[in-house]
This record gives sequence, structure tokens and C-alpha cells, in this order.
Amino acid sequence: MPKKIRKSILAGQITLFVLGMFLILIAIDIGHRKSQLRWYEWYTGPEPFLVFILGIVCIIGAILLFSVVRYEVKEKKPEHVCPNCGQKVLEGSKFCNNCGHEIK
Ligand SMILES: [Zn+2]
Repeated sequence: MPKKIRKSILAGQITLFVLGMFLILIAIDIGHRKSQLRWYEWYTGPEPFLVFILGIVCIIGAILLFSVVRYEVKEKKPEHVCPNCGQKVLEGSKFCNNCGHEIK
């Protein structure tokens, strides 16, 4: 996965997470005020429950995106490394350039 895409996914993830947190806070705030203050009855927006669910969905989305990125990173082919000395080994070479260990 190109770095650019990963970066934009990360940005989207953070945005989703912040948005989710924000929505949950709003939901809690609305719920709180609704139960405490009568004047808040003018509020005709979405039910705090719905706002809360939306926030949860946003956060779940962010977490899912995170696992997608993790998965992509995991999927990346392991670097060819000499099992003996740990030096990077060119793909296709049979012996380590550093210590001469045979690469299988
Ligand atoms: Zn080696």
C-alpha cells in the first residue's frame, strides 16, 4: 500500500475518531441537559441516543480502518534478511553478502 494512501487513511481515521468522540460528548450533553433543564425542551434535533449511536459507529469505523492498515502492513512481504547475521539480503541471492550464510 502506498504511503500516500496510508497517510490519508490515517487522517480519515483520526477525523472519524474525533468526530465520534465529539458526537458521543454531544449526545451525553444533550441527554444530560434534557433530563435536567426544562428549557432544553426546545431541542428538536436528533435524539441523543441516535447521536450516540452515530458516534459509536464513527469510532468503530476508525478502529476498522486501523485494523485494515495493520493488515496491509502485515501483508507486506518480509524483508529478505540473513537468518544468521540479520543483514539485508538481495532478493534471489543464495548466500549472504555479509557472512556467507546460505539463504534458503
Ligand atoms: Zn549473514
